[in-house]
Amino acid sequence: MAVLEYKTLSFQERKDHLLITLLQLFQTKIPLEELRQIAPFTIPTLHSICFSTVDQEKAAAKFSFLLTKYFDQLTTRLTGNKATYIHRNSGIPLIGNVAFGIVYRNSSIIEIKTNNACNLDCVYCSISEGLSSTKNDFVIEKDYMVEELQKVIDFVAEPVEVHIGVQGEPFLYADMEELIADIQQMDMVHTISIDTNGTLLTKEKIDRLAKNNKLQLNLSLDAIDEKAAQTIAGVKNYNVLQVKEIIASASQKIKVIVAPVLTSGYNEEEMEKIILWIKTLPVQPILGIQNFLRYKTGRNPAKEISWDQFYSLIEKLELKHDIKLKLHKDDFKITETKVLPKPFQEGDVITATIKSIDRFPHSVIAVAKNRTISVPHCEFKMNKRIKINIMRDKHNIFVGKLV
Ligand code: SF4
Repeated sequence: MAVLEYKTLSFQERKDHLLITLLQLFQTKIPLEELRQIAPFTIPTLHSICFSTVDQEKAAAKFSFLLTKYFDQLTTRLTGNKATYIHRNSGIPLIGNVAFGIVYRNSSIIEIKTNNACNLDCVYCSISEGLSSTKNDFVIEKDYMVEELQKVIDFVAEPVEVHIGVQGEPFLYADMEELIADIQQMDMVHTISIDTNGTLLTKEKIDRLAKNNKLQLNLSLDAIDEKAAQTIAGVKNYNVLQVKEIIASASQKIKVIVAPVLTSGYNEEEMEKIILWIKTLPVQPILGIQNFLRYKTGRNPAKEISWDQFYSLIEKLELKHDIKLKLHKDDFKITETKVLPKPFQEGDVITATIKSIDRFPHSVIAVAKNRTISVPHCEFKMNKRIKINIMRDKHNIFVGKLV
């Protein structure tokens, strides 16, 4: 008999398949008949599977083969979009792509991106993420992320901030609290900042997170008016009252930056209401109003306000309400750090191996020299070797063109 246990996987037996959930957010199915070919099985607990008449080693190898096979059909529960699980044995490095992994721009802020997908659908989202997204999602094994992050930090060899700025909502990642706790232990990290829409936080979670004294929460709040907040969040069940409660509670225990996005035609009148509400809180979080900017990849519902107009509005609000609203580079203690070598440069022609589909349709992730390269207009064929002309190499984010 063999009992296989998995912390990040859960199992539910259905009529003709085993439903497997990864990190509470991603799912795939294995046909029961294929499992029975290993041996008769039962599901003794949510996180374990028991095979009779086979030894532990054989069961583990055969089940792992089926997992790999059916993880190719992984989808995100929120949207049904395809998803790629990146783990130690996936052969996918964590440096090279702006949408997942580690982004190091030769400064003392290292960005990490554990997952995509978002439970909102904000009108201004600069990456068109959320419930209406049709892109491929990525999710990274927590321990793999921690190991690779430590390597980059060791290379930098200076105090750094780790910024969890995922293309999506980070608290959808079931291992987020553990990840933050692991980063908290890293000596060279002075700050762990995380961008969140706040909807998945609870007071209990805030209490647990507050044990990490390096943590800083950057929380979205775009309106006080409930209808306006729902319109901007793009979902009817967005509950601004609950988000306000979270901000009020978190500010007493954790450093909080509230970051509304001023979006023309949606929330100009709301900025003053947000300031007045923030000023009523027992511990006032930092308020950093941001200007909406149009992006090629964004939803772009409004025109941009010019920087002159934006700053003059912010200055007026600062004067009127005696509050600091402009955040400067100095507020974030960003310094230049060591340049991470690039294994190839723009213009190089290299050979790489296809390992996954990319975020956008008809594009793939290819891998060479411990970097990923996005290759648009390329058919996905696992492990196919392709020749690529490197078109972009800035900050070790690579884009290539099929030769
Ligand atoms: S919460 Fe963030 S990631 Fe999600 S839709 Fe809004 S802006 Fe995009």
